[in-house]
Amino acid sequence: MNLTLHLTENCNLCCTYCLREKCPRDMTEEVLYKACDLAFSKGTRAGLCFFGGEPLLKKDLIYKALDYCKEKSEETGIRFDCKMTTNGTLLDEAFLERAREAEMVIGLSFDGKAQDVCRRYADKNKSPTSAVVEKKAKMLLKYIPNSVAMMTFAPEAIPYYAESVKYLHELGFMRVTANLAYGKNVSWSDSDLDLLKVELEKTSEYLVQLFEKDDRLSFGPLHSKMLENIKGHNPSEKCHLGVRQMPVTPAGELYPCTSFIGDKDYYLGNVFDGVDNDAAARIAAKSHTPKTCLECDLVKRCTNSCGCANRMNTGDENEVSPLQCTYERMVIEAADDLGDRLYTIDSDRFMKRFCG
Ligand code: SF4
Ligand code: SF4
Ligand code: SF4
Repeated sequence: MNLTLHLTENCNLCCTYCLREKCPRDMTEEVLYKACDLAFSKGTRAGLCFFGGEPLLKKDLIYKALDYCKEKSEETGIRFDCKMTTNGTLLDEAFLERAREAEMVIGLSFDGKAQDVCRRYADKNKSPTSAVVEKKAKMLLKYIPNSVAMMTFAPEAIPYYAESVKYLHELGFMRVTANLAYGKNVSWSDSDLDLLKVELEKTSEYLVQLFEKDDRLSFGPLHSKMLENIKGHNPSEKCHLGVRQMPVTPAGELYPCTSFIGDKDYYLGNVFDGVDNDAAARIAAKSHTPKTCLECDLVKRCTNSCGCANRMNTGDENEVSPLQCTYERMVIEAADDLGDRLYTIDSDRFMKRFCG
């Protein structure tokens, strides 16, 4: 079973788009060990994602979980996988040594050239973080070269989008993802989206240049849409609310995806008593393709059923927002255009890289 452990509700940054209410509430050791037991209770793999707030504020808990799960894995023969999403400011060599030993996959939340626009320290001066995170990113890549840089873009950061992709690749990241900031702290206008389209075009141009030189970069939004199209995968089918990657709160409660935490209608149980299967079935049955999407030609290529994004944007997990619809159309068009261009440049290399 895969669980996302919210080790703390605290964070040392105050990103402008963050939706978390920060408070010094941490997971107890008792909850931590029960959550590890739950991850090993079902299936042939146990997966933990260390998450927060900022999980590196609770390095002690991560070390305890790694030791405990290593032992459990040896005892049971069940494979243990772990990953972490971090803002990177608290990374150090000793932690990265342990993370490498545990084959931890690390996602570094790093907005590239837009870092200081939105992601600053939670001190009284709101100090910039870019210099620290750049240094930590280099340290991270030295230990775990396949780490992912995860950008989140608010409207005010869009002018930095394409140059951020280039910057992160030049720092050494081979995998970069980019998501839009959603929710009550951001407000998107049509002109922001027009500018995003231009930035996506510039990013495509950069990806073409890399392909021409046989250099590699996996850029989430465009490459995943391209690959899903080639392989006939439907991105909406990836969402299994509350089944594939359940969040665990510091108090040990289980919910479907993160934006449902704290809503009693979506409570799925706790690490002491396990998952309430009736609640899980009832909640899974609620999820369906938004009505407005049923007749759309792109319905099978669009992430229209992400309950989290829909809930943040419209308040209803089954209602997709105009923002998401415009963004999905824009990314699909850009991905198709990119695929055509790369195929024309070298069809053999294209087939080997993307269709193998
Ligand atoms: S690093 Fe993450 S949890 Fe912390 S303020 Fe930023 S978005 Fe929120
Ligand atoms: S493009 Fe818009 S209407 Fe079409 S499936 Fe996606 S969200 Fe729905
Ligand atoms: S609700 Fe969205 S974020 Fe959550 S699992 Fe589904 S697709 Fe992923």
